Amino acid sequence: MSKNPVKKSTSPQPSRELGTRRRGRKKGKIFFISGPSGVGKGTLISALRERHPDWAFPPSCTTRDPRAGEVDGITYYFISREKFREKIEAGEFLEYAEVHQGNLYGTLRDKLLNPAKNGKIVIREFDVQGFDQARRKLNREDYISIFLQTEGGVEELVKRITSRAPISEEELAHRIESMKNEFAHAKLYDYIVFSRENKIQEMVEEVEGIIAENS
Ligand code: 5GP
Repeated sequence: MSKNPVKKSTSPQPSRELGTRRRGRKKGKIFFISGPSGVGKGTLISALRERHPDWAFPPSCTTRDPRAGEVDGITYYFISREKFREKIEAGEFLEYAEVHQGNLYGTLRDKLLNPAKNGKIVIREFDVQGFDQARRKLNREDYISIFLQTEGGVEELVKRITSRAPISEEELAHRIESMKNEFAHAKLYDYIVFSRENKIQEMVEEVEGIIAENS
């Protein structure tokens, strides 16, 4: 684990979403996980989910289609663009962003904040734009951010993605652009954890160490 050289701001900001906590109540905390496509966010989160059934893994909303094996209401609620727009208008999202191929992704404010208010450890993955929006709305002490990175940078990720499943040139070019954008934002995060091929267990344990240290 490498602690990001960018210093964490220590002073809580006023008027944030989680509010102040009642005295004596156990403090929950939100852990945001970001990183480029192919870095292993999904694998990490599945492992954490299995190992820590008492933690909260709130689903977000997306307009993309479910992939094989994805169940509605676990990682995502799969909704139409129209429904997504309604939720934007109703103010249900803490943040939302257009991520891959014009698909919208949004974090449901209550699903994310309520378990934290009840003292739970909350884990959610975000793209960098989502994280940038969410961090402005929360107290600095209520969340920790973790960025997953590969030592071999974009080149290593391209190798991983192309060996996983067939992908069109256009889609690959798009993914490379967004990887570069994600890497450029790594400095916003509290921790950088390196994802090494075939070393998933190590990554899981590093992230668990960060969570234990900060909750
Ligand atoms: P995927 O479609 O592969 O599950 O996710 C695509 C991208 O969307 C990933 O970078 C993932 O981290 C991001 N993402 C997942 N959920 C959210 C969310 O609630 N908000 C935002 N802004 N991005 C998300």
